[in-house]
Amino acid sequence: MLGPVILAASRSDRMRRLVSAAPVTKPVVERFIAGETVDDVVPVVKHLADRGLEVSLDVVGEDITTPEQSTAARDAYLRLIDHLEGLGLGERAEMSVKLTLFGQALPGGHELALANVRPVVEAAARIGTTVTLDAEDHTTLDSMFAIHEELRKDFPQTGCVIQAYLFRTEADARRLAANGSRVRIVKGAYKETASVAYQDKAEIDKAYVRILKILMEGEGYPMIGSHDPRLIAITQELARRVGRKLDDYEFQMLYGIRGEEQTRLAAEGHRVRVYTAYGTDWYGYFMRRLAEKPANLRFFARSMITKG
Ligand SMILES: Cc1cc2nc3c(=O)[nH]c(=O)nc-3n(C[C@H](O)[C@H](O)[C@H](O)COP(=O)(O)OP(=O)(O)OC[C@H]3O[C@@H](n4cnc5c(N)ncnc54)[C@H](O)[C@@H]3O)c2cc1C
Repeated sequence: MLGPVILAASRSDRMRRLVSAAPVTKPVVERFIAGETVDDVVPVVKHLADRGLEVSLDVVGEDITTPEQSTAARDAYLRLIDHLEGLGLGERAEMSVKLTLFGQALPGGHELALANVRPVVEAAARIGTTVTLDAEDHTTLDSMFAIHEELRKDFPQTGCVIQAYLFRTEADARRLAANGSRVRIVKGAYKETASVAYQDKAEIDKAYVRILKILMEGEGYPMIGSHDPRLIAITQELARRVGRKLDDYEFQMLYGIRGEEQTRLAAEGHRVRVYTAYGTDWYGYFMRRLAEKPANLRFFARSMITKG
């Protein structure tokens, strides 16, 4: 029951100010956020690469209020790509992008977000890598899929994310699988109502398996975004059944979660990508990680009480 309460708090400005300013927050945040600057994140990328892992880098932030913030976000990604160019990591380091950070929710936001994301996709292609568009709350998705389709005309490797908890997602998966797209499937991390999304964990897991099957049997490149051991085993079984080789799909997990499992799968020959978030505007991302696992919240609350 705690999850929805935390997700509601993730949209509260008052909570944002309170949690962001509390000094005791830092050690808990550091488990999930790989630093505040490009200089912080580069050694993390190198360390993950040394462990045989790939990365998807996310400059944290969302729900901005001015066009200037959206261009600043674009420039932060362009600076990151410039840094990565020198490391020679090629496609081992891709970018994940939230379109609301690029202005999608502002007036005229669809065009603004497309104009901001295009140079990032171009710069990523220049250094031999690509961009995946994250899925945010369901009201943003028609615009996200339209931007994805537009970008794929010039950059077919551009990926997108679909969320198993939404009723619409099986149809989206069919369309994307037939188009040969790179698609990350996740359970879904936002607060959605029963009119658009499954609420029951078992229902979400069942939908995830149905969608996984569509993607694995389709023409595209499935990216399995989950830490759930059952879904990882089902993916491996489906891959065997449909004859997908180890480089025909990949597992993706979040930085700070099940690190040993990430290394174990990579050692077995799987491609494993670690979604690595960094930056100063970490509040929304951090609160979604707390909501996913109540034990994280208990740990966080304990450190607030004992040290605060
Ligand atoms: C690479 C990646 C990208 C993502 N991108 C998006 C996106 O674009 N849009 C979106 O809505 N959601 C996104 N998510 C989040 C996703 O929707 C889920 O909320 C999240 O992955 C938890 O679901 P799970 O599949 O790991 O299964 P769960 O059943 O939630 O977790 C399975 C097990 O993993 C571990 N675990 C999971 N989460 C945590 C945590 N926070 N802290 C500690 N342990 C944990 C626990 O051991 C748990 O028992 C992404 C997830 C991943 C892995």
